[in-house]
Amino acid sequence: MAARLLNGTDVAQAIRRELAADVAAFTSRAGRPPGLALVLVGDNPASHLYVTSKLKSAGESGLRADIEQLPATASLASLLTLIDRLNRSDVHDGILVQSPLPEAMGAAAEQQVFDALDPAKDVDGFHPVNVGKLVQNRATLVPCTPTGIIELLDRSRIPIAGAHAVVIGRSNIVGKPMALLLLHRHATVTICHSRTADLPAISRTADILVAALGKAAFVTADFVKPGATVIDVGTTKLEDRATVERLFAPGSKRHQAFERRGSLVVGDVHPEVEQVAGALTPVPGGVGPLTIALLLRNTLRAAEARCAPSH
Ligand code: NAP
Repeated sequence: MAARLLNGTDVAQAIRRELAADVAAFTSRAGRPPGLALVLVGDNPASHLYVTSKLKSAGESGLRADIEQLPATASLASLLTLIDRLNRSDVHDGILVQSPLPEAMGAAAEQQVFDALDPAKDVDGFHPVNVGKLVQNRATLVPCTPTGIIELLDRSRIPIAGAHAVVIGRSNIVGKPMALLLLHRHATVTICHSRTADLPAISRTADILVAALGKAAFVTADFVKPGATVIDVGTTKLEDRATVERLFAPGSKRHQAFERRGSLVVGDVHPEVEQVAGALTPVPGGVGPLTIALLLRNTLRAAEARCAPSH
């Protein structure tokens, strides 16, 4: 039987509807809307697309959002100066620095930038103070993608407590915070990575399997226990016809989409998993829309905390 598809677009819309009243209440109380600064460095087309879509979503939800753009040739020092200005801005409650930064800034640039953010405005939850609070289960600003996944599981009535959750991927932005959030919700958690021995066998023990490795269709049916919940975080853009046709039969909806656009965004989970899993997030329309909804919620939370009398 085909898996139940977990619709992230619907859940994201529900979260955004719930936010609307709180955004309106904050705006009338503070005399201004919650504000988000989107920092974009360079001219990576995918980054442009992500930032524009965050800008649009913020506007639709009644938030103020501004794009702060620097050229690809910008120095790390000039980026840190911008961060300093935004840290001191009265109208910006949240700051998001779009990844990746230009390679010329150096391998350590991203962490240096996260370290420079005011933790109270770190709506991505990447500052070491917020990471530490997450470890201790007392964070307000938690990375958006893993938080969105917990919302999706809860609203889809998939039990977490007592479940064995396997997370494939140990990045700071997805894998590690995902594992921590599942642990805080009383799952038994196994974290896997590129050196894990016999990944399919470990994955097959999961009640909840989160694939966040960034390798198109890597997780095949033999990774999945029948009936398990599979969360596909990966997004890989395929432009090679042969690879697309290995995954999607000519004439299928996904193949038609490839024919129209000349490319196709696919997840880490192979389409055959739909026949084994109990529940599955589609790509697109699964995890992606949740990330933006949670960014807006984090911005509102940051705004409320900054404007609270004790701040
Ligand atoms: P990342 O920083 O590249 O981390 C990938 C992780 O996967 C690493 O921990 C790596 O292990 C592990 N890995 C790589 N190859 C593996 C293999 N063959 N077997 C087992 N583990 C393997 O990626 P990320 O930033 O976490 O993102 C992961 C994916 O999620 C990407 O496709 C990204 O585009 C997508 N993403 C989507 C959203 C969304 O909103 N939908 C948000 C964020 C990310 P090592 O640590 O051993 O290298």
